[in-house]
Amino acid sequence: MNNSKNVLNYMFGKGTINNLDSILNVKKSVSNYVVYYIDKYFQNSELINKLPIKENDEIFFVQTKDEPKTQFINEFRDILVNKNKNNPKAIIAIGGGATLDTGKAVANLLTNPGNAEDFQGWNLVKNPAIYKIGIPTISGTGAEASRTCVMTNTKSGLKLGMNSDFTIYDQLILDPDLTQTVPREQYFYTGMDTYIHCIESLGGRYRNAIGDAFSRQAIELCRDVFNSDDMMNDENREKLMIASYLGGCAIANSFVGVIHPFSAGLSVVLDTHHCIGNCITMNAMEEFYPKEYVEFMKMVQKQKIEIPKGIAANLDDEIYLKLYNSTVIHEKPLVNALGDNYKSDILTLKKVTEIFKRM
Ligand code: NAD
Ligand code: ZN
Repeated sequence: MNNSKNVLNYMFGKGTINNLDSILNVKKSVSNYVVYYIDKYFQNSELINKLPIKENDEIFFVQTKDEPKTQFINEFRDILVNKNKNNPKAIIAIGGGATLDTGKAVANLLTNPGNAEDFQGWNLVKNPAIYKIGIPTISGTGAEASRTCVMTNTKSGLKLGMNSDFTIYDQLILDPDLTQTVPREQYFYTGMDTYIHCIESLGGRYRNAIGDAFSRQAIELCRDVFNSDDMMNDENREKLMIASYLGGCAIANSFVGVIHPFSAGLSVVLDTHHCIGNCITMNAMEEFYPKEYVEFMKMVQKQKIEIPKGIAANLDDEIYLKLYNSTVIHEKPLVNALGDNYKSDILTLKKVTEIFKRM
């Protein structure tokens, strides 16, 4: 039986970022320095002036052109070890899913001997991580709430997180003012990650009442946001931030379905980013999620969002084979969605190729 864990503390509301200093002051520690991972977008922004940065603190600006790789996480760890700063009072991550996952992964690695790739899987992290605070600046992935941190091992091609209770943030600051500057298209793609996680969960075989409740509420909030005239007004940015948090709690209690494995295929083979990859996959999902497909497309139209089409329409057979392999490898979600015989009965090479061509 699952013994579920959630984030212990969270502060929600406009301007809550200003409480970071008092949260750090309350926290007891033998160390007096803090390590920040901040989305590079904010490098020269006002936000930096609002942070209680002290002389001894370490600040890293995280690029988001590439999603996290195990190698980047090992490098971040090495820098801290070499500077003798491997036991900070706190790790603070400020950004989207990529940056939040970076903070989680480094916090685990600093207290567990080994490299990032050694902990890709379920419950492989043995020691509690460094105390960490997550501050999302874009809503949708649920990375702020989930018990994983997605990374790709480029050597093995494995894209998998460190699934562990130790990966969960100790403290969140959910300040909807921080999402004001997100570009519209990105706001939609990332926001839809929550909607997609939740429709996949509710469409699965392994369900439970708690996962269902989180999912239903997150979907309702997404509907409010993406069917409204101004999806990015103050109220809607608040709602989407809550939807993202609830969606993260939902996946901790359930599994995804057909969409995420196809999106992962796009990511591993064509380097497509996670959230836009999900939206591209939706183009071809009518047969698996008929009602949700129609609802999703209505929201795309309402918000006048451009979803790239045809990115996998004309590829070589060898690439389709790679796409197939990196899709059907995701057993847990595919069994959840399609049953034990998903590979022999439904997702044959021919069928998977056809689905990619339809995107
Ligand atoms: P991201 O972190 O890649 O950021 C997307 C873009 O938005 C970047 O260009 C970033 O600079 C920009 N951005 C972020 N906040 C901004 C702001 N306030 N103003 C302007 N620009 C801003 O995006 P994401 O979609 O949040 O996260 C995707 C990542 O999350 C992937 O690496 C994926 O694997 C991971 N993920 C993790 C989980 C989990 O449970 N840990 C779940 C789903 C996805
Ligand atoms: Zn996702």
